[in-house]
Amino acid sequence: MHTLQQQDPDIFNLIQQEEFRQKDKIRLIASENYVSKAVMEATGSVLTNKYSEGYPGKRYYEGQQFIDQVESLAIQRAKDVFGAEHVNVQPYSGSPANLAVYLAFLSPGDTILGMALPHGGHLTHGAKVSISGKYFNAESYSLDEETGLLNYEAIREKALACKPKILIAGHSAYPRQLDFATFREIADACGAILFVDMAHFSGLVAGGAHPSPFPYADVVTTTTHKSLRGPRGAMVMCKAEYAAAIDKAVFPGLQGGPHNNTTAAIAVALKEASTDAFKEYAAQVVKNAQALATTLLDKGFNLVTGGTDNHLMLIDLTNKEVTGKIAAKALDAAGIVLNYNAVPYDKRKPFDPSGIRLGACAVTSRGFKEEQMVQLGLWIDAIVSAPANTALQEEIAAAVKALCAKFPAPGLEDLA
Ligand SMILES: *Cc1c(COP(=O)(O)O)cnc(C)c1O
Repeated sequence: MHTLQQQDPDIFNLIQQEEFRQKDKIRLIASENYVSKAVMEATGSVLTNKYSEGYPGKRYYEGQQFIDQVESLAIQRAKDVFGAEHVNVQPYSGSPANLAVYLAFLSPGDTILGMALPHGGHLTHGAKVSISGKYFNAESYSLDEETGLLNYEAIREKALACKPKILIAGHSAYPRQLDFATFREIADACGAILFVDMAHFSGLVAGGAHPSPFPYADVVTTTTHKSLRGPRGAMVMCKAEYAAAIDKAVFPGLQGGPHNNTTAAIAVALKEASTDAFKEYAAQVVKNAQALATTLLDKGFNLVTGGTDNHLMLIDLTNKEVTGKIAAKALDAAGIVLNYNAVPYDKRKPFDPSGIRLGACAVTSRGFKEEQMVQLGLWIDAIVSAPANTALQEEIAAAVKALCAKFPAPGLEDLA
């Protein structure tokens, strides 16, 4: 980035500091990852200069000789990786992708039913502060208070009572696999469209480490930058019968010109996701999450649902007598970066909740295996047991940096 360094040293320096932060710290934010250098190169390409409102073969501007091919490749690769009938790769991010689904199927005031935000649902699944909760009649289902698990019987009762037009399956903080066949039965019983938002776990689906929603769902959205390890963006995939409605909702319904540099980078990421190496990656993500979960359970941590079978875990710190925020800040000072998070039926407020959320996607991308996850679990236990011990934080931060040096982060291998 020599040109940037000369022209705008302020931004150059900040980007460089962020590069070192991503290189030297253990990143456990469940929605984050490292993209490959190839994905970054496509993201930073001249495709950012081109306008291409419309779809391949039906554009409103000339000069699409190469853009059409890029977008068609991205679509074909998504179909191949996921077995989708129709794919739209243009949504700017996960939230606009979800809005496009609502625009395609709903009128204002219609009912949607999704997982409650404080139980692991996403803002766009009907939270009151979100447009999804303001423009639609948003109903929600909760997790079981005893087990922390989805209670499919309770979801069925709620769905039959409120008759949603769209039933949403998907989450940002639920540490277990979803039962798509049962969601399908419930959707059929109440006449709803089944919408699966696999933003968090689409990389596991691509790699065969999580059941696929595709035989069951009418429409599936995903971000491309979480477990799928692509650029910041999203896709809407659906059954062929809904293709026209979805495409019209994305453009011209919600967006203007697609971000072609992102589309190209999505295509690159999908090529990577179709390899055997990515299957191994997805399987290792789950093994790593489970190794960390086991270590933390041994140390007396209270994991919601008692463990994990995907990439993430949610920990209720109430028995450790520390809040999620204090723990997250102490861990950040020790080079272990995660987020504080509400736990189901949390007695504390969302801005200072009882839990933390941890994910294994990013550390697995840099090559961590079970051995490193066990070490990580021991460090987390030490920090959370003494959150005010700044000397210990400094000591562990140095050990974290030394461990990270042995596991070069994708895209940052050349950083001295
Ligand atoms: C991250 C996420 C989104 C939103 O993605 P953005 O790109 O942040 O808009 C939507 N749904 C779920 C379940 C998510 O986890």
